Amino acid sequence: MTTRQIKTKGIVLREVKTGESDRILTILTPALGVISASAKGSQRLKSKLFAATGLFCYSEFILFEGKTMYLVDEATPIEVFFDLRASVEGMSLAVYLAELMGTLAPEGESAQQQLRLLLNSLALICRKRNLYQVKVVCELRALSQAGYMPDLVACQSCGGYEGEGFFFDLVQGGLLCADCAARAGHRPNLTDSQLAAMRHILYSEDEKVFGFTLSEPSLKHLSALSTQYVVQQLDHRFKSLDFLQSVLP
Ligand SMILES: [Zn+2]
Repeated sequence: MTTRQIKTKGIVLREVKTGESDRILTILTPALGVISASAKGSQRLKSKLFAATGLFCYSEFILFEGKTMYLVDEATPIEVFFDLRASVEGMSLAVYLAELMGTLAPEGESAQQQLRLLLNSLALICRKRNLYQVKVVCELRALSQAGYMPDLVACQSCGGYEGEGFFFDLVQGGLLCADCAARAGHRPNLTDSQLAAMRHILYSEDEKVFGFTLSEPSLKHLSALSTQYVVQQLDHRFKSLDFLQSVLP
């Protein structure tokens, strides 16, 4: 019986060093989703795998199917996102987004959209785009792709879709207009422009999703709200989130 060989692109979401020179990688691939792969000897500077199997390397991999996980036979770097290391904030955001994607992306099935979203997000961090903006887009789109898409079309109670502020219900994943929110004992937590930005993030095409402008305070507010939504919906506290929030409050 011959071992099946697989050629795939993928980005390293996580690396765990094992032994003196090996690494276990978590890789997000377009066709197989999230996979685990052992990269033997890859910690060695002289290893042919060294340059292409580090954290956030987007590489072309040749894998063999092993008993419990894939084995990396060859890897060629396509994009290593070196500039993520330029700031603690940018690097921390990248680590969080990788953990988020590793949790939300499927295993064993297509994750083309998730991969593209993460690659675009990392590229924008490298290009020094507003980090709150990158964060809120990546969080909301990743949740939507995983089936946690909030309904921001109109007030869930009266159907109104315009007005002076809306309440985004983190538990229901829906909207209430200011009047209906007041009746339910809530205060609006979204201005009109913030709601417009959230609608853009949720309902625009992949290529246009980062293409909106909003003030820094509003981006910061949406970023905090979207993280609350992540934690509420997934009922999961990400390890990388505490550190991220300490450097990007
Ligand atoms: Zn209403």
